[in-house]
Amino acid sequence: MKDTQVEKLVIIGSGPAGLTAAIYTARGNLNPLVVAGREAGGQLMLTTDVDDFPGFPEGIGGPELMMRMRQQAERFDTRFVAEDVLSVDFRQKPFTIKTETQEIKADSVIIATGASAMWLGLSSEQRLRGKGVSACAVCDALFFKGKNVIVVGGGDAAMREAQHLSKHCKSVTLVHRRDSLRAQPALQDLVKSKPNVKFIWDSIVEEVLGEEKVTGVKLKNVKTSEMTTLDIEGVFVAIGHKPNTGFLKGQLELDEKGYIIVRDETQTSVQGVFFAGDVADKRYKQAVTAAGMGTKAALDVEEYLENLKG
Ligand SMILES: Cc1cc2nc3c(=O)[nH]c(=O)nc-3n(C[C@H](O)[C@H](O)[C@H](O)COP(=O)(O)OP(=O)(O)OC[C@H]3O[C@@H](n4cnc5c(N)ncnc54)[C@H](O)[C@@H]3O)c2cc1C
Repeated sequence: MKDTQVEKLVIIGSGPAGLTAAIYTARGNLNPLVVAGREAGGQLMLTTDVDDFPGFPEGIGGPELMMRMRQQAERFDTRFVAEDVLSVDFRQKPFTIKTETQEIKADSVIIATGASAMWLGLSSEQRLRGKGVSACAVCDALFFKGKNVIVVGGGDAAMREAQHLSKHCKSVTLVHRRDSLRAQPALQDLVKSKPNVKFIWDSIVEEVLGEEKVTGVKLKNVKTSEMTTLDIEGVFVAIGHKPNTGFLKGQLELDEKGYIIVRDETQTSVQGVFFAGDVADKRYKQAVTAAGMGTKAALDVEEYLENLKG
């Protein structure tokens, strides 16, 4: 690529949001360049079973779904760069996007860099991810039908996870490191009203037990240091997500957690810079909602570039 070339559109991120935006804008003749990131394909590359993406009645593996989305984008001549963006300059147009080896200029940008689930940081937790350890009840609850599970956390997200799991699981035990919850009172009341939800207070998970799959957890009471073992088959970690927006600091308005502040539909605080997917979604965080936002961002970019031409 020549230094002087200005891309019409650069899409940062290649999860469902970025690839859907690529399919739409490529079909709209914007010839998008996707900076796919080192973890090309995004979060669904980490899961074997996606049962809720429309169009796949038998379910589909996450990597296969992402490969198909990418092939669909390539069919309309989307180009890909397999690198992370390290920094951007949105103060002047055309915008500048710096990757590990390139400096790219663009008239418009869609940010679709997702948000990563925060984990407890235990090696046993990482070893058993996808084998009983999850960070998404809506995605995985059905795999735990009739089973005993725990949810770790005490905020709104943990309440939503527990509430959703209580519909499918035999029992849901909420493990929280403090003696009270910080979730909204209405959500707390809803969860506390479920007969199959129990609470273990002042406790942290010391270890997730199991070889091939989760069989239990070792808990530590932070006040008494007492250790107990709980036999369960699922661990849902709900201690928050971290949006992948470190490279945007000082360039776009971000909230205190790092989520992009939404100006209007898919608009960020900088005209010509749009967003899609989990990077600005504090609540739904689903592949299909991310893809839907990718479509909206694509249509908004098309209109923006059309207006620029005057
Ligand atoms: C284990 C697991 C299982 C799940 N199962 C389901 C399910 O069954 N059904 C469902 O609907 N949802 C599921 N989800 C949630 C779903 O994966 C997300 O909601 C969805 O992937 C969000 O899409 P996205 O495009 O916004 O972001 P992501 O999929 O997170 O993609 C972000 C992209 O941005 C890239 N990126 C990040 N930083 C940079 C950077 N600096 N420069 C360049 N690129 C960058 C990444 O490499 C990645 O390509 C699951 C999530 C996980 C973790």
